[in-house]
Amino acid sequence: MIVSRWNRDDTHWEWLDADRYLVVENDVGDGGRVLDRSDDFAQPGPLSLLDAEEVADRFVSALELDVDRINDPLVIVAQTRARLTSWGRRACRATVTWEPCLTLRAPLGAPEPRLKKNLIHEFGHVAAEFAGIERPHDEDWIDEVGAAIWLRRKAVQRALRLWGWDGERLLRAFGVVPGEVVFRRVAHVGGGVAFYRSRVAPRRVFAPEHIEIPPRAAGWERRWMEVALRGGHIPTLWRDGAWSIDDPLEGRAGVILLSPTWLDSADWRLGNG
Ligand SMILES: [Zn+2]
Repeated sequence: MIVSRWNRDDTHWEWLDADRYLVVENDVGDGGRVLDRSDDFAQPGPLSLLDAEEVADRFVSALELDVDRINDPLVIVAQTRARLTSWGRRACRATVTWEPCLTLRAPLGAPEPRLKKNLIHEFGHVAAEFAGIERPHDEDWIDEVGAAIWLRRKAVQRALRLWGWDGERLLRAFGVVPGEVVFRRVAHVGGGVAFYRSRVAPRRVFAPEHIEIPPRAAGWERRWMEVALRGGHIPTLWRDGAWSIDDPLEGRAGVILLSPTWLDSADWRLGNG
């Protein structure tokens, strides 16, 4: 196990490898500190997606988690012997504290996909701290780290080899993992673009950093998404396209996937591939 340490102005924290779980020594004894607070301002992410992958890798190998496949957030809870406490008054996100064992505050009464998505987000913060990255962290970048811990690069590559850019099958390949996590990984590992939205959550776009995405949905994207949200499917020559998805977390959702082949071969911004 990698032993890592970080020192702050008035606080000394150290990761110990005793008994293969994370312990944090708090010399100050102030009862722990909050890693993820909704009142922290997210700093704009200077860190790239590649960094997110590396931060996740370090965390996964330090904890001796599954390097190549899937790390269920509840398995990581067991592996870290984290204590879960129910969601406090704070209404937006779960929080992490050390007091001195790892304590994750999460919505315990929530449906499993919601609970897991909150937990993996918090493990994203823990992994970033583990890598010595100062907070406040960029929240979207933390989601990236969390997703990379949950769905390992090789598992995503394998799924893409098996199913191509078939949104429905890719989602099914990962069981009850929320679509947002699956398609975030598919886009970033596979080098394509994913547009995602559901009836309960707005448009999200995942794409490699060099690809510029219009801030608002173009006409063709809106039309395709409408079809998907109504239960339809739009196939393309490259076996990517638009699908209607039954998301374990968000219910009826629509996904548009554009494979690297598509991106290379057409002006996809105009939707005329
Ligand atoms: Zn957070």
